Amino acid sequence: MRADSIRRAAAILLLILGGAALWWARNGTPASASANGAMVATIAAARERAAANDSRLKSAWRFEEGGWIYVHLEGDPGAMGYQHGYLLGPEIEDGFAAVSAGMTHSTERDWEFFRKAAHEMLWPKIDAEYQQELQGIVEGLRARTGSKLDMDDIVAFNAFEELPDYYVPWLNKQQKPANAPNLKSPGNCSAFVATGSWTKDGQIVMAHNNWTNYRNGERWRIVFDIAPKNGYRILMDGFPGVIASDDDFGINSDGLMVTETTITQFEGWDPNGKAEFVRARKALQYAGSIDEYTKIMLDGNNGGYANDWLLGDRKTGEIAQLELGLKAYKLWRTKDGVLAGSNWARDPKVLKEDAPAFDPDNKESSPNARRARWEELLNESKGKIDVALAEKMLGDHTDTAQKKEEPNERTLCGHVDGSPRGVKEWDWQPYYPGGAVQGKATDARMAKEMRIVARMGHPCGGDFLAKPFLAAHPEQAWQEPYLRDMKAGPWTEFRSGQAPK
Ligand SMILES: [Zn+2]
Repeated sequence: MRADSIRRAAAILLLILGGAALWWARNGTPASASANGAMVATIAAARERAAANDSRLKSAWRFEEGGWIYVHLEGDPGAMGYQHGYLLGPEIEDGFAAVSAGMTHSTERDWEFFRKAAHEMLWPKIDAEYQQELQGIVEGLRARTGSKLDMDDIVAFNAFEELPDYYVPWLNKQQKPANAPNLKSPGNCSAFVATGSWTKDGQIVMAHNNWTNYRNGERWRIVFDIAPKNGYRILMDGFPGVIASDDDFGINSDGLMVTETTITQFEGWDPNGKAEFVRARKALQYAGSIDEYTKIMLDGNNGGYANDWLLGDRKTGEIAQLELGLKAYKLWRTKDGVLAGSNWARDPKVLKEDAPAFDPDNKESSPNARRARWEELLNESKGKIDVALAEKMLGDHTDTAQKKEEPNERTLCGHVDGSPRGVKEWDWQPYYPGGAVQGKATDARMAKEMRIVARMGHPCGGDFLAKPFLAAHPEQAWQEPYLRDMKAGPWTEFRSGQAPK
């Protein structure tokens, strides 16, 4: 082994020196761009080959299916991070560019501002094992692509759901900068969890579609199969470079089933708290019960990315809703019922203290219209709910405000790009390119075998095409470098330990 690796290192060195000599010979004086390019490519290839032989990659793999990229990560935190950074290197670079452009555009703050927030405010409170995992991502990414991104970039990027829409509005309130943009916390996703007499087999069924802008959503195509050295095995969807599911949908090997929808018009941030992306990942990795999940999410709650967490424990058949405000929170639980979410808070105390601007009585808003549709759909499906039916529900296009079929901002499968109203509660302008970007579902039986089904793109199967959209909506031209087609894939099953076909 040792001699082998020395030989390998020598071979790589020769390759690099050979490339350099070639470049030197051809370019004694004026350097030609093409030879210089060849030189760079040679060194890049050598670097990639050297990195591919890193022992940390031995137990990891990736493959693509149904529009998703499946990644298996295994081992100690540093190794899992390295695998993540290496295997998803090109996707991380691409995702970082799209996400950071959105963060700086909406907040009118430069990227250095987010790096500083990550370094000074978030980093010191991140558990050591996740610091190691994040460090591993940076190392793996650099080894794969020669990336210039560093730790502060990756931490700020991991906090893309919480820094721009929670921290910055809170900071603007203190600092009162002139012409501060009107930032609003997002309202992402439609989801439910059902159990007992509501489902076909009496056990838990859980489903979720992710609502976000199409720019980010089209990149939210990773299935992470995580086998950590400590804690439970995880199967979740996610975003390249981010350690939490972040939209969120995941199951763990101790029976916990987790999803959420975001609280519309949430206000608040605690700079001394622990980043939400860290708490959410930790809870999915270490909680074996609804109580343990709640405890981890409350520990150091910073108010970032405040959600109504929909939980299931397949060991007991119990489901729960954790409405996690910053000043207030509420936990409901039942062994016979259904809990749905579409971005509305319902606890009077949470509404009053954490989302005071939200109007629960406006039947025409996206959260409330979808809430009404969930009630109709789930009530008429009582006793029949299974994964196949859940897939259909995630693609539902009934607008309860207009009482008609029309994919728009008020339907469970959101198509805000088709709405002349947009969603003012989230500051989504008319025809905003956002909505449901992918869906997932599972049940207790599948979760026991660590299986989920997932569909990339609109859960109804509809496609979004960037070119005609941008031509019709020049006000979104700033997104042009990042906004791509989002074509729907088939419903596809994934399971833990799955190998490429
Ligand atoms: Zn749809």
